[in-house]
Amino acid sequence: MRPLAVRVAKLCFMTTAIHWFRRDLRITDNTALNAAVKSADAVIPVYIPSTWKKEHPWTGPMKQQFLCGCLESLSKNLDAAGGKLHIRSGNAIDILEKLVRESGATAIHTNRDPDPFGRQVEEQLKTLGNKLGIQIHVHQDAAMHERDEVVKGDGEPYRVFTPYSKAWLRLDKSSPSPKLSRITTPSGLASESVPTLAHWDLQLPEGAEIIEPGERAARKRLESFLSGAATSYEADRNTMAGQTTSRISQDLRFGLLSIRNVYHDCRAAAAGTNASGRQSINTFISELIWREFYFQILWFQPGVLDHEFTEKYRGLKWQPPGEKFQAWCDGRTGFPVVDAAMRQLKRTGFMHNRARMITAMFLTKDLQIDWREGERYFMQQLVDGEIASNNGGWQWSAGTGADAAPYFRIQNPWSQTKRFDPDGEYIRTWIPELKNVPAKKFQEPPIDGRPIAPGYPAPIVDHSTERDNALEMFRSHG
Ligand code: FAD
Repeated sequence: MRPLAVRVAKLCFMTTAIHWFRRDLRITDNTALNAAVKSADAVIPVYIPSTWKKEHPWTGPMKQQFLCGCLESLSKNLDAAGGKLHIRSGNAIDILEKLVRESGATAIHTNRDPDPFGRQVEEQLKTLGNKLGIQIHVHQDAAMHERDEVVKGDGEPYRVFTPYSKAWLRLDKSSPSPKLSRITTPSGLASESVPTLAHWDLQLPEGAEIIEPGERAARKRLESFLSGAATSYEADRNTMAGQTTSRISQDLRFGLLSIRNVYHDCRAAAAGTNASGRQSINTFISELIWREFYFQILWFQPGVLDHEFTEKYRGLKWQPPGEKFQAWCDGRTGFPVVDAAMRQLKRTGFMHNRARMITAMFLTKDLQIDWREGERYFMQQLVDGEIASNNGGWQWSAGTGADAAPYFRIQNPWSQTKRFDPDGEYIRTWIPELKNVPAKKFQEPPIDGRPIAPGYPAPIVDHSTERDNALEMFRSHG
């Protein structure tokens, strides 16, 4: 044992840093957390739950429930590494100021959040750093390449995906770092317990089935995808029944997986497979690039949250949301594929990508309802709700976004069903009323306009009439 004088001297010079967890709820390859641990003797890991109640435009009970589970698991992982997760709810900047004053911390580390709100808070954090005379470190973590790393020769952002993705692929990729093995947290600082839904006055809808939260569950999902469905992703990813995709979107949203880990594991899996398997994994990587393309759009054009990316489509004459919007939310439009998807969303907080496109096109083209209504409803239901990708997906489907489907390419829900749910398995999974109805009846409108099963509604609109109406809405727009 060291002599007392040496120990006291060491304590006096002990440096403390804060790691502020936001959308990075993991201890493996966490850039800011690693930097905090490396730079200070002791680190206070803190999560700051927001204090809104009951209703929020960008989240809902299923996403918050998943968040609670992730915090629970993060707390255990930090315990196992010798640290302690601190929970303090309130205004983030006020909480951090208080924590600095209580602990004598000389630095705050956090990973950058690409959303406009995250950006705004980071600005306030810098001001706090100046006020308190401490260091503020905001690290790149959520994206492999962010902001102005992937831009055109003249520094302008890309508006089209393919050249963006080519430029993205050409850049060197950082390697992941291993799981944090040891962290020292100062004792004696107060912490609330990990929040539950009651913290926001929320309740889980009856029958909700939410995917398992936490870093370990996310890791398992990635491994099982890469050792299974990944090599047939190219051929199967549009099939809505069964599990044809990775299901890691919420893990990337909450940072249970680092994008570097995902990318490097993909490359390793590709190296161990044949040419068609490699092609499939490359297609999967291209989806990861879409995620960063949308981050970049939001970074350079935060206004897309209010208006259409394509200027000429601003001010379109959308229909007001009414009963038809409610039928869409409830999965009672009489279009089986749309209803199956909306019920999957309501029950699980997840929807297959093909189904997201079909339901979004249905809302914006068949019902001509403003994409912003659908965007907000999705954010309140989706566990993986990601402001950038959700906005990008909605504007793509509405025909108003970056590199979007042109407005005149309107998907037909009946023929989409024939292609992507030919046996009706997806539809029957989510609509029990239709479990004895043959698949053929899901692939075209009922000839006599009558419901195809007792208790199931007739179609609320006629697709070909509404297709013409939607085309007219775009064509006649000034
Ligand atoms: P996989 O097919 O396994 O893809 C792997 C990962 O790539 C995904 O986890 C996701 O991070 C990313 N990705 C895949 N497709 C896209 C895409 N089109 N755009 C951006 N990133 C993509 N994705 C979200 O993560 N959050 C959202 O809120 C969201 N909202 C959407 C809304 C609409 C209207 C549409 C059309 C798409 C939306 N997407 C969103 C994209 C996509 O539907 C989901 O990422 C995907 O379904 C998640 O399932 P997965 O993880 O199994 O995907």
